[in-house]
Amino acid sequence: MDKRTEFIQTKSSSISTESSDSAQSAVSRPRVVIVGGGFAGIHAAKGLAKLPVDVTLIDRRNYHLFQPLLYQVALAVLSPADIAQPIRTILRHQKNVEVLMDEVVGIDSRERRLTLGSGATQDYDYLVLATGVGDSYFGRDEWASLAPGLKTIEDATEIRRRVLLAFELAERQMVEHGWHPSLNFVVIGAGATGVELAGAISDIARLYMRHDFRHIDPAKARVLLIEGSDKVLGAYPADLSAKAEDMLRKLGVEVHTGQLITGVGPGWVEVEGKNGRARIDAAVTLWAAGVKASPLGKLLGAPVDRRGCVQVDNKLNPPGLPEVFVLGDLAHLEQDGRLIPGVAQPAMQMGDHVANMLAADFAGETRPAFRYFDKGDMATIGRMAAVARVAWPFKAHWSGFPAWITWITVHIFFLIGYRNRIAVFAAWIWTYFTFTRAARLITGDQSLPGWKEHVTAGPPELRLISVESLIAGGKPARSGGKAGGHGPKTLPNETDGGPGPLHLGTGDERDSKSQVMPNRQFTHRKPQMMEKSPHSRI
Ligand SMILES: Cc1cc2nc3c(=O)[nH]c(=O)nc-3n(C[C@H](O)[C@H](O)[C@H](O)COP(=O)(O)OP(=O)(O)OC[C@H]3O[C@@H](n4cnc5c(N)ncnc54)[C@H](O)[C@@H]3O)c2cc1C
Repeated sequence: MDKRTEFIQTKSSSISTESSDSAQSAVSRPRVVIVGGGFAGIHAAKGLAKLPVDVTLIDRRNYHLFQPLLYQVALAVLSPADIAQPIRTILRHQKNVEVLMDEVVGIDSRERRLTLGSGATQDYDYLVLATGVGDSYFGRDEWASLAPGLKTIEDATEIRRRVLLAFELAERQMVEHGWHPSLNFVVIGAGATGVELAGAISDIARLYMRHDFRHIDPAKARVLLIEGSDKVLGAYPADLSAKAEDMLRKLGVEVHTGQLITGVGPGWVEVEGKNGRARIDAAVTLWAAGVKASPLGKLLGAPVDRRGCVQVDNKLNPPGLPEVFVLGDLAHLEQDGRLIPGVAQPAMQMGDHVANMLAADFAGETRPAFRYFDKGDMATIGRMAAVARVAWPFKAHWSGFPAWITWITVHIFFLIGYRNRIAVFAAWIWTYFTFTRAARLITGDQSLPGWKEHVTAGPPELRLISVESLIAGGKPARSGGKAGGHGPKTLPNETDGGPGPLHLGTGDERDSKSQVMPNRQFTHRKPQMMEKSPHSRI
């Protein structure tokens, strides 16, 4: 037995001794190990408070994160501490729980033993696995650093850094050179996270920063939401999905559906739609397009779906492992022929259900089956609008302001901790009435992928001429002019009379020339914010 193992075992028996039952009965109590302190893990731990078990909750970080409000950290409304709470604090009054901050890296389901990142091992009688999901880049993991996703506090502060920095770099470039690269914010994926991010970036650009810069006009930044399927919020009913798209367009977000991402590079994104391929300049690219399960699902050795989520039955057990429960986003469970969605409500309900099943075990009864009680879904779209599919206590589809009020109420209610509820509510009141965002901090690195390359390449207008000149065999062509079937294609902007559909070039064209001039295909006919002198406000 190594020292760390000894430590864990000594610790675990001391916790058993501290419990209200006698020391003898504590020693023989089953040990439930919960991996993951998200919605599912915390609910499972709390549910076990009154059962004769000792619980070890292991999480690689020391806090529970309220992911539904992460985008508000990313867009500077809230600070990280407003939406996170130490797991120890949440469970501090529950005597039968100990909390370990460590990462589980191995599972031996035959020996009922976990291996931790620290090198220790942890035995269990029952295992509750609730380690959630991460971002999937569909096998292109090299895109992750170019297009961060939004799953953690680190992701949120990185997104905040990039979005705010883009405006700062544009202002500085404008002061020094009288032009700046296009301020395009490209959000990939129009599920709830993508829609919320796009709406919030549009808000920050159009409303919250409009008085803060002297040389650029933040409101002229463009927000492009790219979606592979034919609608935004694909999991929502068609009427709400259409309303969401309408609200996004009213916020100035350019919604491009039916566009698959074929490439992400420093400062650009490449898409393919029914008309061919296109390359879009991007000051900031954000990823909200896919999820993949925590690797622990595969380590369990049970069957998993294509995302890596563990197939479980209605007792939340993988086949042949009745002492293992897989919960929350990590579980693949179908009910009435439909996959239970990876959102907070099922995770909480599955967590609560673990206690019901263990109570049945101890009473010698059959475990009750889990059934998801669907109360509905919601997504916000900008400052004061949302869409809501209400499934309980009555059925309704809401959009706009009423849906937004419902969204606020539900989120305040489900936030863990009174301090966080008060802090979040106060920040919202402050933000919505003063049009300022308290958490507009840029921390860390002061560079953006691709920005330097855009600056070196020169103003989009000049690049357009030089590329056309290349295509036309050295003869300069006019900006926006035609160059036969091979000329550069343009992505229309507001100077062309408002946002429009992508104009797509052919893949062959792009591939053969992208080595010569990155970003040359899609430039603005009239670059934004170039018309005035470096020191004038535009
Ligand atoms: C940006 C965003 C917005 C969302 N908005 C909404 C919304 O509006 N409404 C809604 O219902 N749902 C929303 N969701 C989904 C919701 O947050 C998830 O469904 C829910 O968090 C799933 O809970 P979980 O307990 O399964 O996993 P998580 O909450 O992801 O928790 C997993 C935990 O496991 C820990 N962990 C992972 N691997 C290990 C390991 N190897 N060892 C130890 N610990 C580990 C992690 O640190 C984490 O604490 C959103 C999600 C995101 C990312």
